Amino acid sequence: MKHPICPKCKSANVGVILWGYQLAKDKEQFEKDLTSGKIHLGGCIISDDDPIWHCNVCNNEFGSRFRTLEEL
Ligand SMILES: [Zn+2]
Repeated sequence: MKHPICPKCKSANVGVILWGYQLAKDKEQFEKDLTSGKIHLGGCIISDDDPIWHCNVCNNEFGSRFRTLEEL
């Protein structure tokens, strides 16, 4: 999965937002990524325009959940 750059602050320090827990196959790695800011947890309510990327610098959330899931 290629990482985007935050459109707001141009930082590459961007984590992916996981909607639900279905992608957490490796629990140890999952928690490590969660702590390091590589991934973020979204809510359980899924709408049509959920962001997929979370900027760790300015907390901006952007991107499309649907498009990235196809790329996984
Ligand atoms: Zn940013």
